[in-house]
Amino acid sequence: MCDFCVQHGEGKKWYLQAKNYGEDLLSDASRRQFIRDFFSNPEELAQAGRQLDRLSKAPAFVRSVMRAAITRRMKKWHFGQVVPLEEVGEIFEFVNSIVRVPCICRHISLGQEARYCYGVSMGPGGGRFGELLRGLDDSFLAGADLSGLEALSTEQALENLGEHEKEGLCHTVWTFKAPFIAGICNCDRSDCMAMKATVTHDVPVMFRAEYVAEVSPDACTGCRACMRVCQFGALAFSATQRKAFVDPLACYGCGVCRSACTHDAITLRPRAEVPLAANRW
Ligand code: SF4
Ligand code: SF4
Repeated sequence: MCDFCVQHGEGKKWYLQAKNYGEDLLSDASRRQFIRDFFSNPEELAQAGRQLDRLSKAPAFVRSVMRAAITRRMKKWHFGQVVPLEEVGEIFEFVNSIVRVPCICRHISLGQEARYCYGVSMGPGGGRFGELLRGLDDSFLAGADLSGLEALSTEQALENLGEHEKEGLCHTVWTFKAPFIAGICNCDRSDCMAMKATVTHDVPVMFRAEYVAEVSPDACTGCRACMRVCQFGALAFSATQRKAFVDPLACYGCGVCRSACTHDAITLRPRAEVPLAANRW
């Protein structure tokens, strides 16, 4: 289990603990301020992206010190974890409100509104988190074309997430000052700041999922469709066996490759059962 399961999950998966979505956590004034600042100041996030680019050119020692410092800070304020679709469904069963909002990363990287993020909350109508976001309407994403918060039923939200999965996007949960969770995003390597930080720059700001993918050689036809959707380069192809296989050291356990496989050849195994990956977060 990851650090957060130990610290915030009482021995279970921390993101499946309803208390970590609780309205009471929003009573914390510093958390509310962090959320306001986060959504109303995309330039700060853009600047962090530029700093990461510069850091990649720094000497190895500087990179290693900075990497540890950034991860430590992010774990306190805004950290994520990859979560497979079925567990997002479990989260949607106990939250009372799901609203779709524009993605701040796509706003920065593409300069346009793209609604790939979902605010989740325990209060009806978005609860106190929804109130906070509505209060930011004027400045939210620096004036992106915001047609209000888009409230969704559980079924609508799950359908959307299924579509995002077909697009090859990886589902992630996000804290706003740990352990409070209020966001579910759908990420890719090209536009998502967290994926770039974690995977491209090796500065982790999210955990891998609690799972690792596995290909059944008997069911695999070697069509390679799964390889085209893996954001992490974790699937490879054996030319001699004519089968795909997973590199457990590279796999983030998102499960997105399963959607691409029409032969049901891919399953997710608990990370703890895969010795090579068990302690790799
Ligand atoms: S998509 Fe499925 S059948 Fe095709 S290579 Fe990948 S695991 Fe094998
Ligand atoms: S191989 Fe692993 S990282 Fe790649 S899509 Fe499948 S589950 Fe995700």
